[in-house]
Amino acid sequence: GGGPMMQGKTNLQDFIESIEFVEKLYDFVRIVDPVAKKVSKLEGNNLENTDAICYDFWKEGRSCENCISARALLDEETHIKLEYNGEKLYMITAVPVKFKDKSVVLELLKDVTYNSVLFDVEGKSIDDINNALKTKNALIIQDSLTGVYNRRFVDERLPYEILESFIEKKPLSVIITDIDYFKKVNDAYGHLTGDEAIKVFSEKIKNCLRKDGDWVSRYGGDEFVIFLKNTDLDIAKMIIERIKNSVESTCIHYENHCVQITASFGIVTLNGKNSTLQELMEQADKNLYGAKKGEDNGMVASYF
Ligand code: GH3
Ligand code: MG
Repeated sequence: GGGPMMQGKTNLQDFIESIEFVEKLYDFVRIVDPVAKKVSKLEGNNLENTDAICYDFWKEGRSCENCISARALLDEETHIKLEYNGEKLYMITAVPVKFKDKSVVLELLKDVTYNSVLFDVEGKSIDDINNALKTKNALIIQDSLTGVYNRRFVDERLPYEILESFIEKKPLSVIITDIDYFKKVNDAYGHLTGDEAIKVFSEKIKNCLRKDGDWVSRYGGDEFVIFLKNTDLDIAKMIIERIKNSVESTCIHYENHCVQITASFGIVTLNGKNSTLQELMEQADKNLYGAKKGEDNGMVASYF
């Protein structure tokens, strides 16, 4: 990126003038803190979060799964997407901005409802438009083999989950799980059977999670990240035990064989403390390593 907005030492006057200028070009301009999911506002010399929730604009009642502002903040690049709020179609441009010590995102919203170059709404019902956009936006955070979330979703979503659990003083559990001796499955039965094993593994995990709040993501290869909202360690262990049993009792069919797999689990539960994605993932990864060595019956946990 370039431009005056991207430089570390953007001064207040430049910043305000820039906003005033882009407000003339767009239908809505707002400053967003994509970790807290709040709209920010300039209060005198300071940038402060208001009570307004950024995703309320989209009337979905929950945070955007394909959050380009979180993405912009993470990789310090500008990102664009189309979104529909039930009335109008918007093109959103998310520009990462540094203001003093704070990193926030400038969201530029343009009404493109009747811009047929971007998206032809003519002759389409509201449901058609909504579904087409939902599908497009969902693909960006989806793993193509299994249909569960991809790694990008973890990187963009987990910081928000951590902050939310800290603010609401509720526990959370993060688990990294990985299939044992997966290379042997590929070697003995071929890659297609390996793919099938990965798919079955993801389905078994998904079926053991609550539909609301919990999620699973394919982090890479045969490795998955499980997020359990508002879940303390004892419950997390119970859920992992359930997944373990479900996975171990399943057949992946290869010719006349029943191919069976096991998996190991590294668990981290956070309760009351604040933390970072890096800290949690590092500890979960260490615990997974211990679990692979056979510690604690393949399920090693830490409690912060
Ligand atoms: P460990 O018990 O320590 O987990 O050993 P492992 O054999 O499971 O080995 P590891 O997890 O390190 O390696 C995962 C392997 O998965 C390596 C790679 O060849 C294979 N793999 C990665 N992605 C895919 C995929 O999409 N499909 C298939 N079939 N194989 C994959
Ligand atoms: Mg493995």
